[in-house]
Amino acid sequence: MRNTQSIKLLSELSRPGRRAVRLQPLDVPAVDHCVAIPAHSRAAAPPPLPELSELDIVRHYTNLSTLNMSVDSHFYPLGSCTMKYNPKRNERLAGLAGMLDLHPYQPESSLQGMLEMLWNLQGIFAEIAGLDAISLQPAAGAQGELTALLVAAAYFRDRGEVRTNVLVPTSAHGTNPASAAMAGFNAIGIESDAEGMVDMADLRTKLNAQTAVLMITNPNTLGLFERNISEIAKLVHDAGGLMYLDGANMNAILGASRPGDFGADMMHYNPHKTFSGPHGGGGPGAGPIAVRKMLEPFLPTPRVVRHGDRFALDWNQPKSIGRVRSFFGNVGVLLRAYAYIRTLGPSGLADVSRYAVLNANYLLALLRDVLPVPYAEGCLHEFVGSAHGIKARCGVSAMDLAKRLLDYGFHAPTVYFPMTVREAVMIEPTETESRETLDAFVDALRTIIGEPSELVQSAPHTGTINRPDEVQAAKNQHLAWSAVP
Ligand SMILES: *Cc1c(COP(=O)(O)O)cnc(C)c1O
Repeated sequence: MRNTQSIKLLSELSRPGRRAVRLQPLDVPAVDHCVAIPAHSRAAAPPPLPELSELDIVRHYTNLSTLNMSVDSHFYPLGSCTMKYNPKRNERLAGLAGMLDLHPYQPESSLQGMLEMLWNLQGIFAEIAGLDAISLQPAAGAQGELTALLVAAAYFRDRGEVRTNVLVPTSAHGTNPASAAMAGFNAIGIESDAEGMVDMADLRTKLNAQTAVLMITNPNTLGLFERNISEIAKLVHDAGGLMYLDGANMNAILGASRPGDFGADMMHYNPHKTFSGPHGGGGPGAGPIAVRKMLEPFLPTPRVVRHGDRFALDWNQPKSIGRVRSFFGNVGVLLRAYAYIRTLGPSGLADVSRYAVLNANYLLALLRDVLPVPYAEGCLHEFVGSAHGIKARCGVSAMDLAKRLLDYGFHAPTVYFPMTVREAVMIEPTETESRETLDAFVDALRTIIGEPSELVQSAPHTGTINRPDEVQAAKNQHLAWSAVP
């Protein structure tokens, strides 16, 4: 176990006069800053920056980097989040100076390579979605949801239709109802049936002339393909509404099924999930959206367009909802996704989904006798086990199991989501894990389920911290230390 006490703040390690560089004596005339910067713009004293040697700094950050679990260091079966390996090749490509050092205010003529890449990516995303038009702007899946709902609102406004409701299955990710509310709609829950699918009777009851959009996750958050998806789309369309696909689970259906073909009118991608961009603590995401032709005029501007062999940004779209993110979006993430997709090609992407589904079903088969899976039939790239029976038997909860896995060197799975499964443990292995890793995870989880309750309930025992108050941590954030109070 590491001693966190030894990890002090840089300001605490600071010693007056300590330096990481030694500069040569000045051999040009010195600028007198007191003259160059007017008095009212000058601070009273220099900022209290830490004074450190290079070794102090390297050790500090190296030690910090080992305190957390990451995809590079541990198996990370965090359901719904698709924590797959991030190929280093894509990191190198995204770091090439010709891409990394671009500035969005450069003239378009000097951004042709980047614009061409983005234009190509729009075409690829449209093709995979089976939809017509793309906006690369949104910065995350959740912002993609919000953007698409704003596009839908603009579309209905343009048609003179007043539609106030967005229907969201109860198994959906929390961002779905939140996005609906932020876009000014009422979010209305749709129940799940006994097989974990959208309850068709409940859907029929709640669909009406007030329905603007049905937001659906397919495969859903139980890892199941909605059996009635075409019928659902037809019902929504017959009621004059639009169907939105939460594309977080595209990892399961690449090359097998296209949202546009099963009736979605708009969707978001999570390139940081499906297309291997580092995420979580590892970097920003992106949330490009794909829409059908009739929604295109309302997409955010600017959009990347092609004129002959030149690429440009098009701001001329009178019905656009405007911009939702600066410039073209998080291009570094989009570039990684582009490199990933071009490296694998169509058949490689289909393999991604096949292996993701195989790995999830392998784990499911080896775990379901100790961790029952209420909706196991037709499981795709992830499954949701229930620790309800274990808790009733010996008091060990989903949270306890997740915490104890950390002691065995595995990142915890997602717990308590979706809310349609009691004591949910949501496991998504992704396609990048080997059979040996999956077997080791099975061994660990089976061992833990046989361990004395007290040992599991007080885990983790080897972490740098034990059980932080997660509600406090989320609601009362102190993310930065400040020298200046
Ligand atoms: C991750 C996720 C989202 C939100 O995407 P972000 O990129 O994290 O904003 C939405 N829905 C589902 C099902 C997800 O797994």
